[in-house]
Amino acid sequence: VVKKLCIIILLCLANSFIGCKKFEKQNKNLIFITIDALRADHLGCYGYPRDTTPNIDKLAEKGIIFKYAFSHWPKTTPSMAIVFTGTYGYRNGIMGVARGQYFEERNLTLTEILKENGYQTAAIQTNAVMAQEANFHQGFDSYIETWKLKHLKQTDEFSQSLNPSIAKGVTLLAMDWLKKNHKKGKFFLWLHYIDPHASYMPPFPFNTKFVGDKYYNFDNRLSLSEHWGQHYDYIAKRHWSRTGGNNVIDYYISQYDGEIAYCDFCLERLFNLLEKLGLFDNTIIIISADHGESLGEHGYYFEHEGIHNNCFRVPLIWLIPPHKTKKKIVEYPVGLINIMPTILELLNIKITKDIQGKSLLPVINREKDYISKYVILSSFRNFSILDDKWKLTLLKTPFYIRIMGGKRQLLLQYLKDPEERINLYSQETAKLEAQKRLEKALSDWHTEAIYEIRKNLAEKRGVKYDKKTLQWLKSLGYIQ
Ligand SMILES: [Zn+2]
Repeated sequence: VVKKLCIIILLCLANSFIGCKKFEKQNKNLIFITIDALRADHLGCYGYPRDTTPNIDKLAEKGIIFKYAFSHWPKTTPSMAIVFTGTYGYRNGIMGVARGQYFEERNLTLTEILKENGYQTAAIQTNAVMAQEANFHQGFDSYIETWKLKHLKQTDEFSQSLNPSIAKGVTLLAMDWLKKNHKKGKFFLWLHYIDPHASYMPPFPFNTKFVGDKYYNFDNRLSLSEHWGQHYDYIAKRHWSRTGGNNVIDYYISQYDGEIAYCDFCLERLFNLLEKLGLFDNTIIIISADHGESLGEHGYYFEHEGIHNNCFRVPLIWLIPPHKTKKKIVEYPVGLINIMPTILELLNIKITKDIQGKSLLPVINREKDYISKYVILSSFRNFSILDDKWKLTLLKTPFYIRIMGGKRQLLLQYLKDPEERINLYSQETAKLEAQKRLEKALSDWHTEAIYEIRKNLAEKRGVKYDKKTLQWLKSLGYIQ
């Protein structure tokens, strides 16, 4: 009897252990939230001292936090094309500039696969570079482009008349969609928020929330005269003129943080609704960003096409039911290319096409420390490769070579040196094992990419936008 009891207790323990530790494949809804230009280190759950994201932090307490998650290309379209196809730009066809990139029909997207597998698919989308004209709506039953909508009329306390492209608008549209559709069957809902994207103009009280607080440095100034005509002077100039000539860098940072806090504030409403509708227990929630943002570091002001981690490093938070577990932190760096295969493995859906991302489920379940040893980053013709300590960057464009003081190679220990200032690259390649290893891995990746590009060099289609889309692109700064 004692023996039997012991076995039963052991089995129970084993079961609860597995129950706590592992996420089984499941048949669940999916809500994917991407917040444009949200850098990881400005969220509370990523260690930011300002209280920008209390609601996301609360959610993350029960989730999986990828501490070092990287966008592969710090612009919206190339980054999101990678996320939605699990393939690099040279395969999915979206490379380089932000606008005018057509998302080819030949791509098999996450949305299309989910739709094929019986999901209702809907998006509420605020960035015009991913407009229907550019074919980013592939696979979506409903693709709401907020900038094409009339201002929303609301009866609740949210607002009277509301711009649908700001966080409140997106949230209201999402809540409305959920109320109407959550009972109709399993769903995939993608929400793309734009608020932290420049220009940073959060509504009251978020525009004053961080101004002059204890982290605010009045002496940190935009050195406009020095950078005018060399770096992102036109961007700095645009901000400068919109704010009536404010040259305190921390003012812009306080506004950027205000946008994040505003977004988080609105998300609380969405999370409350999920709770009310009982959706938390059968919905996977992912929170991430398309890329980060440079807030004055290395002379880049309020843009995100740079070569440093402030433009590449993004939050990546997963909430996978059942939510019994405490927060898990994954330390090994990962790329967003892995989101799609991870989702599909979790939802027990087989991928019929050969993709380049790999499922992170074994990492989430702590069966492995990492799936891919390296993460590849690119910004135009500049490429980086990183592992869990080192980042090697090879610069090709004269613009970056010039601003990095003529250097064409950078080798950084990005954890020890988060500002990426100490270049350890040596001309004698044999000197550092890491340098040699990373150069070889990047060169292998390149060889494969070039081979495939040559093989598949397809005719590219241009994009024709409508008037409203053009206006919105202009106000986001994509068009001058
Ligand atoms: Zn973006």
